[in-house]
Amino acid sequence: MNSISASKFAGELVRQEVLDLHAYHVPDSSGCIKLDAMENPYQIPTELRGEIAEAVAAAAINRYPDPGAISLKEKIRNAIGLHEGMDLLLGNGSDELIQLLVLALNKPGATMLSVEPSFVMYKMIASYTGMRYAGVPLASNSGAADFSLDLPAMLASIQREQPALIFLAYPNNPTGNLFSSEAVAQIIAATPGLVVLDEAYYAFASDSFVPHLKRYANLLVMRTFSKLGMAGLRLGFLAGSAEWLRELEKLRLPYNVGVLTQLVAGKLLAHHEVLLQQAERIKRDRAKLYQQLTGISALDVYSSEANFLLFRVAKATEIFNGLKQRGVLIKNLDGGHPMLKDCLRVTVGTPEENEQFISALKECL
Ligand SMILES: *Cc1c(COP(=O)(O)O)cnc(C)c1O
Repeated sequence: MNSISASKFAGELVRQEVLDLHAYHVPDSSGCIKLDAMENPYQIPTELRGEIAEAVAAAAINRYPDPGAISLKEKIRNAIGLHEGMDLLLGNGSDELIQLLVLALNKPGATMLSVEPSFVMYKMIASYTGMRYAGVPLASNSGAADFSLDLPAMLASIQREQPALIFLAYPNNPTGNLFSSEAVAQIIAATPGLVVLDEAYYAFASDSFVPHLKRYANLLVMRTFSKLGMAGLRLGFLAGSAEWLRELEKLRLPYNVGVLTQLVAGKLLAHHEVLLQQAERIKRDRAKLYQQLTGISALDVYSSEANFLLFRVAKATEIFNGLKQRGVLIKNLDGGHPMLKDCLRVTVGTPEENEQFISALKECL
């Protein structure tokens, strides 16, 4: 069959929502210092690598993985201090869990609510699954975005939309700030739907709702290990009451977390402190990078509780391209959400990478 007729077939058979989408774009980063995707820049310590290599060599990859991932779940429970009575559901990255939540809650006419700007996958998954989506803009003070929660606007929108599902990234991506926990608590109390707090950046933040899960019947916390040094493994989880997770579990595809991911993540979580030490290192380097950036008068820098910093600069796209020519890849947010006009986002790298970024940036200005 030739490609013209295949494209005709696909154009006629694929749902319009899908035809209208653009696939999630990942830019080519070969040869670049990679500060675009919030990865942990550090490798695993050498002895631990040896231990992992041995375990991988002995792994039964001819067998399906443990469908319940019992051993890995136990290690996650211990690592995050999950309360008795609370349960876990594992995903092949947390993106998969967002999709699973939508599959479960997208009754006819149901609405997903989130804030804007935030993590683009919420809206993207809503659009390709055909779920109604409403976005509430984050706050601006005297014309300048400060990206805090606009609580009155959120409460009004909850009242109006009666959302079945709310996603809040805590801290938020791509802005980096942590919303007020009181405001989040009011949102959870006011919504008739399920609130999912996406704590992808928990290791770099000063607060979490995991200890408060028991308090709310309509709250789940979602986390990923991607930003903590396991982006390549693809592992995320939902934490919350068994009553919620039991229903969601029915939609989880069997064996979604592979043998190697279960094995390696288990080894790493047995040494959770190593990863948390790396996160502490990144937090110290974030503070230093923040100071260096605020020292550059052409930039408006936002404070961050994540492993990245957002800043605004005139002609952001030119600066972004200039950095790329100098071998430094960051994220260009200009041209996306209007509140992110002239915004760039840089992941905190190693001290050497951060220095290279700063000097390249100064050359571009
Ligand atoms: C990176 C990120 C995710 C996705 O994590 P994966 O587990 O790698 O799919 C989810 N939510 C937010 C807010 C993120 O920044």
